[in-house]
Amino acid sequence: MKVGVIGGGAAGLAAAHELTKRGHRAEVFEQAPFLGGQASTFPVGGGRLERGYHHLFVSDRDMVELIQELGLGDKLAWLESRVGLYHGGKVWDFSTPGDLLRFRPLSLLQRFRVGLWTMALQKTARWQKYEGVTARVWLEQHMGRRACQVIWDPLLRGKFGEHFDQVGMVWLWGKFALRVASRESRFGREKLGYPLCSFGEVFDRLGERVVQQGGQVNLSARVQRIVVEDGVAGGLEVTLPGQSAERRDYDAVIATTPSYVFTRLAPPLPAEYQQRLERARYLAAVVVVLVLDRPLSRFYWMNIADRSIPFVGIIEHTNLIDSALYGGRHIIYLTNYPDRDSELYRKSGEELVAEFTPHLKKINPEFDASWILEQYHHRVDAAQPIVGVNYSQQIPDLRTPIKNLYLANTTQIYPEDRGTNYSVRLGRRVARLVLEDHAGG
Ligand SMILES: Cc1cc2nc3c(=O)[nH]c(=O)nc-3n(C[C@H](O)[C@H](O)[C@H](O)COP(=O)(O)OP(=O)(O)OC[C@H]3O[C@@H](n4cnc5c(N)ncnc54)[C@H](O)[C@@H]3O)c2cc1C
Repeated sequence: MKVGVIGGGAAGLAAAHELTKRGHRAEVFEQAPFLGGQASTFPVGGGRLERGYHHLFVSDRDMVELIQELGLGDKLAWLESRVGLYHGGKVWDFSTPGDLLRFRPLSLLQRFRVGLWTMALQKTARWQKYEGVTARVWLEQHMGRRACQVIWDPLLRGKFGEHFDQVGMVWLWGKFALRVASRESRFGREKLGYPLCSFGEVFDRLGERVVQQGGQVNLSARVQRIVVEDGVAGGLEVTLPGQSAERRDYDAVIATTPSYVFTRLAPPLPAEYQQRLERARYLAAVVVVLVLDRPLSRFYWMNIADRSIPFVGIIEHTNLIDSALYGGRHIIYLTNYPDRDSELYRKSGEELVAEFTPHLKKINPEFDASWILEQYHHRVDAAQPIVGVNYSQQIPDLRTPIKNLYLANTTQIYPEDRGTNYSVRLGRRVARLVLEDHAGG
């Protein structure tokens, strides 16, 4: 059979890989001039760097297997990560349970309370018991008001803005469960994975595999419309570089775009399915990448629990990965997750750098703008779905109500949070579903 795939990110490429591996034809259309979607890279200092910071957890088995299958297993490094928390004008170590016990902004009793409930969350695999409650309500009930004021509210507000009190507790459970899986011992630091060839190389290699297996990968190729006739999806209207729109016929179509893009490409969908698509709204991401001539801090991942600072995290990539990969330069990401229609999202790279960088002195008083060798700015439209309570009942089905039309995007990842691992898993799953539906047909 012949399948049209919209999107050359992790999900689209994994689906095309699965289909072509089983002897079917898949044609991928990616509107960008590169593969990898949210995990794509750009050149820095002779290396390839992700547009948005990326790492893997030990629990990310689908990605690890994929990297091995592509012959890149020897490039996958597992490295100790150091986590910090900026609160009250000071950077606190926050990598191990021992660090929590030394966190003086909370009383000793409060620290124990946070520690005990954190351990309880890490230990439970039963996410279903958190389905009916928001993270905010659960945290206040269990860890207390003061812990919410000091740690959780600034972090939740930072990540989800005005939607901070709508996020389901399952989302937070997922974060704890993954992080503990990445620790060698309960009291040690977590280890994070990174393909030293870059995530971009992994997805380029995956694209090459699709082609070797008889598929097609088209870059700068925008899908304009999903062709549906008599209620059945039968093709795509696509624009390839320098050509006018053309129609391609397929036995099935897989879309891996955000839900609101899917809605624009498909004909009107039944109300019930449309409502599901609209249930999980997305936050965008703005990411400023600064290439420095020296390190900023000791930390890989620093949460900013101070909403007077206009970004929510500093990810110092070269505190996880050797700076030698980038010609000895040091790389930091400054990140925030605004709404797509917010002022912050519309700001130019220059405006963001001007607004963000003065705050770096709070992290390292010696920081000076002269340390910046290069600066970049990236925007991701649909970076983070906001998943509320009881979401398991509201997930849009991978089989859409239109025959032969399938959807696989980050709003269908649950109970885990979005990530390359789960997009790869979803891509494979949707491909198998397509094959199952067309078996013997
Ligand atoms: C800032 C940031 C940090 C992250 N950090 C991590 C991390 O540390 N570890 C991790 O595993 N994951 C991380 N993620 C998440 C991870 O990158 C994503 O979950 C995953 O890459 C999503 O893959 P996808 O294929 O589902 O979607 P996407 O990557 O969004 O792919 C969809 C593709 O569809 C294309 N498309 C859309 N419309 C059309 C059209 N009309 N025609 C043709 N093509 C179209 C888009 O250009 C895009 O390439 C991060 C994400 C962000 C934004």
